[in-house]
Amino acid sequence: MRDDSPNSWEARADAHSFYGFTDLPSIAERGTVVLTHGEGPYVVDVHGRKYLDSNSGLWNMVAGFDHKGMAEAAKAQYDRFPGYHSLFGRMSDQTVMLSEKLIEVSPFKRGKVFYTNSGSEANDTMVKMLWFLGRSEGKPERRKILTRKNGYHGVTAVAASMTGKPYNEVFGLPLDGFIHLTCPHYWREGRKGETEAEFTARMGKELEDVIEREGADTIAAFVAEPVMGAGGVIPPSEGYFKTVALILKKHGIPLVADEVITGFGRTGSDWGCQAYDFIPDAIISSKNLTAGYFPMGAVILGPELADRLQAAVEEVEEFPHGFTASGHPVGCAVALKAIEVIMEGSDGAAPLIDNVRALTPKFEAEMARLAKHPHIGEARGKGLMGALEAVKDKATKTPFDGDLSVSERIANTCTDHGLICRPLGQAVVLCPAFVMIEPQMDEMFQKLEAALNKVFEEVV
Ligand code: PMP
Repeated sequence: MRDDSPNSWEARADAHSFYGFTDLPSIAERGTVVLTHGEGPYVVDVHGRKYLDSNSGLWNMVAGFDHKGMAEAAKAQYDRFPGYHSLFGRMSDQTVMLSEKLIEVSPFKRGKVFYTNSGSEANDTMVKMLWFLGRSEGKPERRKILTRKNGYHGVTAVAASMTGKPYNEVFGLPLDGFIHLTCPHYWREGRKGETEAEFTARMGKELEDVIEREGADTIAAFVAEPVMGAGGVIPPSEGYFKTVALILKKHGIPLVADEVITGFGRTGSDWGCQAYDFIPDAIISSKNLTAGYFPMGAVILGPELADRLQAAVEEVEEFPHGFTASGHPVGCAVALKAIEVIMEGSDGAAPLIDNVRALTPKFEAEMARLAKHPHIGEARGKGLMGALEAVKDKATKTPFDGDLSVSERIANTCTDHGLICRPLGQAVVLCPAFVMIEPQMDEMFQKLEAALNKVFEEVV
């Protein structure tokens, strides 16, 4: 709870830190939780309080907060070559090796990689690549980007325009030419009496209609998260990506998978697109790419887009884009280690993705158990990402009055009992670290259930 003495960490944080995505009244009441370190999936604050972080930081600290191998890989690279770019005909050996590795572990097996510092920048980069390609191929009008309502793609001006959340209106966004289709959430968006297959067909029809209305020649790409993350962990309706991919292919529109959350094992498959059985034209990656141990993002181009873009660049001789820290050698060394830790097994330990697969049945069973609660409308997810949606009335799916801040209260109650979980809309989201073990999962669900019971008792 908040310590208001003048030199408290809470007061010092308030005085000089400009908060993003933070509810100020809640901070005024509770104070910022200032953290010093972590242990496995737990984080510890300046007062020595320990919290099980059920969101693995921001979906990304999948190897936990004290993975020795990850830290050692960073240290070794800092000692060897602590920083460089990958522009003007130079790049580090680590960057070369990471690109090889990423293509090898990607669903493409052939293609090219471009590095950024974040997922937002990777989305911006992808869009600039497509705009560049359109002009080069004699189609300068091919600029529109299709995404979905509730989709999250980041915060830079383009990535925020791609994001289908109304909060971006405060910035006067989206920019023109960013079109948000219906969120493929059958439970919430399905019409009365509509089967899931009919719903998916309606999503396909909407896409066809938008392409016809806008003109296929004006559309640069369709970008989608295989499972929506920050929109509230929303898996697509049955057959959605198969339907969408066919339509896009027919019209020659690239399908870009934003795998910032779903990449590297979160769903139990290596890539989210594999979990839903489609192959995109490009992948946007970040977060698990370095297991959160270095800020880094990547655009992974599949073979066709890589070839077309390469040809387009060769014509003008240069792609005028890149960041100071693009392909940072420490980031690349850390990412190489993260891929080993997550996908291949490292230092005698099994690949963490094995643990995702092993824990998923228990995670799903616990979610299904909590879904029986009279005020949980839906439990949904894939692999080790899930959400519980609170409802006032289960039968009619009526949400609670927004002023009750139900999910925030649940999250705050959890925090008071040593569990960090994330409120998103009226849902509470879980996205545990891949290093989590069964007793920790029990702790997570017990604390969450206690908080659900307490808050529902208060608000009903
Ligand atoms: N895409 C997706 C799917 C994300 O979840 C996020 C971050 N939550 C981003 C893009 C943006 O990444 P970053 O915050 O690193 O800019």
